[in-house]
Amino acid sequence: MNWRSISFRLVALYCGLLLVLGLSFSLFTVFSFERYTEVSIRAAVTVRASVIWDIIRGSIGKPAEVGALIERFSPAEQNRFFLVNVGGRTIYRSGNPADGSFDPSRLPFVDASLGPRYSNYGAVFLYSRRFTAPDGRAVTIETGQSDLFARDLEDSLVTSLVIGLPLLLLAAAAASYVLIRRALSPVEVMIQAAEAISFRNPRNRLPPLGTGDRVEALGLALNRMLDRLDSAYQHANRFSSDAAHELRTPLAIIQGELEFAMARGELAANVESALSNVLDEVGRLSKIVESLLMLSRMDHPSSQRGYASLDLHALAAETIEQMHLLAAEKRVTLKGPTGGKVMVSGDRDRLKQILVNLLDNGIKYNVAGGHVVVDVSAGPGVARLTVADSGIGIAPENLDYVFDRFYRVSTNRGEVGAGLGLAIVKSICHAHGGLISVASKVGLGTTFCVTLPSASRDAAPAPAATVPEMRDRVIESAA
Ligand code: ADP
Repeated sequence: MNWRSISFRLVALYCGLLLVLGLSFSLFTVFSFERYTEVSIRAAVTVRASVIWDIIRGSIGKPAEVGALIERFSPAEQNRFFLVNVGGRTIYRSGNPADGSFDPSRLPFVDASLGPRYSNYGAVFLYSRRFTAPDGRAVTIETGQSDLFARDLEDSLVTSLVIGLPLLLLAAAAASYVLIRRALSPVEVMIQAAEAISFRNPRNRLPPLGTGDRVEALGLALNRMLDRLDSAYQHANRFSSDAAHELRTPLAIIQGELEFAMARGELAANVESALSNVLDEVGRLSKIVESLLMLSRMDHPSSQRGYASLDLHALAAETIEQMHLLAAEKRVTLKGPTGGKVMVSGDRDRLKQILVNLLDNGIKYNVAGGHVVVDVSAGPGVARLTVADSGIGIAPENLDYVFDRFYRVSTNRGEVGAGLGLAIVKSICHAHGGLISVASKVGLGTTFCVTLPSASRDAAPAPAATVPEMRDRVIESAA
């Protein structure tokens, strides 16, 4: 349970509110009940004293039995108490109550000479009032009633509240949690949709919720923000693509002119050497421009059109064959893939570019007598290409950045790359719904692992998210 989540806070707020209301209601109920009991008992004993006086006033001092008259009220059965005192002598005292809640013989005679009196004796509420008989004698009538029954009722009420309130709170917490989850389900939909938006499908947007509330307003605002970001990204992408495109022609002309000037052989040796350096740099510049052009094209969603099914194994074998000479020059051995066909769907030239760039690095950053081993294998729903070399390796602090554009590790070995080779490999992988990872040990070698979705029947690339193991990551690196 996340204590800071909106769901938890709403449930806590709701339950807190319910607790305060429940406690207030319980206190109010118990207090009102006590009050009601007291008022009704007080009224009952008061009225009863007057009624008794009305009944017995005529028989005071006459032979009629006062006790017999009062017994009409059945005090014992109804748990009531009556006492009649005439001229200081108690002539009647009711018997033991049926519920045994009090002992009538222990209840005192309360003097009411100064006026009617209310008093409590244990569970009994007593009322005492003095009357004057026709013969002038003082008659004190005492009526009492046990509130045991009311107390029992109150205890039951408190017990049900003590048990009921927590149960009510639990039920309310569960119900409010379910309701809040349901109310927040549109946010869940938005999260899923937002997770699915990437540079591979930049036109995807959050779905319209149709709820007409602030959550829908948030979705619409995010969609507008995505529109703006997409347009800015397309703009920047178009700019680098156009710039690279525009640079191509002048560079080709410079290159041609330089080659022409040098081919005539009329130049002084120092000028020729300077021009040769310029030609090298122009060549390097042309490669960078070509790489940038390729990267900006890879970033465009239309780059995924025209994919076809092809055998990655055969493509690797063919590329190794073509790069043998280059490897031999550096005294590096290339070892080809074993096994059979591994079908993937994609752009042949670009997939070949992956192999060329990885093999080129494997040769370039190797040691004399070293080797580069290429392996192609198939897993469930994926094709895996690994290029492992026995070269200089990459230090852990550089490993996270080698796929960044223009990132180069200084090796003091004189290799002059532009730092775009691995960025291109990563872009091609992503455009094919695949991923790339790297593991390296300084002084022992580096292994790149490319994972691509296997070719499906309709030859369309599967989105990366559909292949569970496909997450860009650096596998391992040790100095
Ligand atoms: P570059 O054109 O400089 O080779 P890359 O993008 O291909 O650019 O590589 C980026 C950096 O990663 C390189 O400068 C290099 O230091 C390092 N690197 C790439 N591949 C390897 C490898 N197989 N072994 C050691 N270092 C490598």
